[in-house]
Amino acid sequence: MADLDSLEKARCHCGKEPIIFLHYAQKHLCEEHFIRMFDKRFRKTLSVHKMLRKGDRVVVGLSGGKDSTVLLHSLAALRMDLPFEIVALTIDEGIKGYRARTLGIARAECEKLGIEQTVLRFDRETGRTLDRMVKEIGDDLPCTHCGVIRRYLLNKGARELKATKLALGHNLDDMAQTVLMNIMRNEPARLARLYEPVSKSPRFVPRIRPLMLTPEKENAIYAMAKGIGIEHVECPYARFAFRGHVRKMLNETEERYPGTKFKVVNAFLDMDGGLKARYGKDAALKECSRCGEPCSGPVCMFCLRTERSRA
Ligand SMILES: [Zn+2]
Ligand SMILES: [Zn+2]
Repeated sequence: MADLDSLEKARCHCGKEPIIFLHYAQKHLCEEHFIRMFDKRFRKTLSVHKMLRKGDRVVVGLSGGKDSTVLLHSLAALRMDLPFEIVALTIDEGIKGYRARTLGIARAECEKLGIEQTVLRFDRETGRTLDRMVKEIGDDLPCTHCGVIRRYLLNKGARELKATKLALGHNLDDMAQTVLMNIMRNEPARLARLYEPVSKSPRFVPRIRPLMLTPEKENAIYAMAKGIGIEHVECPYARFAFRGHVRKMLNETEERYPGTKFKVVNAFLDMDGGLKARYGKDAALKECSRCGEPCSGPVCMFCLRTERSRA
């Protein structure tokens, strides 16, 4: 109740009623000033991290969830100021009761914005839906399995669509979770690859994450304020992941120490150069002997995992 009371009395700096309180900045913002702040931060992230250039062909990994849908809209709005192309790439994992709804949103948003969309399906590309793989591989972690296949198909699909950049909807919360997970598992080499592959390969499409400094909650509020279609459905497999534990821990810490998520991600961005220098030399890239995609061992994780579930 204390929060509600303070929100009633609080005002945006313009005098209007606020729609959000930014704990980390100790600021109340009305709808107009929130949207303005959000758009400004989006553009600043792109320019500070040199994510976009004139003439780029950006493939947006569009799941139909709120983050990638907001990303698609925000990028589309930028085309008025900067000439570049946008194509959407959607991966259909084959998760019953979950995917159909988000796929519908993804298709509708592309139509609304006049953006061409390609859909790649797990079953067509690997012979199995994720639902079937989960049944067959039993107690394996579905998110790890799914993540390997999804990342592989996003990169391959983006390259086949002649992308110069692959834009992903990861928000501040996702990034902070991934950074902490890699530290808690003592996998600094993976941390070094988080932002971009350490070794350059013409077969890797450079990835950009323009929402990496945007808190998840703000994406949802932005989508509502702008009338962007979002659906509150969680992946039915999400509960199995270590990520869920880290997310809860980070949310609790953020509540007590506002700004923690920004600090985790900014610390990572600051260390990234050093991590790459340290782990770059060990990461000589080879080609997968089965599919030819870049990988660090003789056979890539995609081939290992899809063959195992097929065996
Ligand atoms: Zn205002
Ligand atoms: Zn392979």
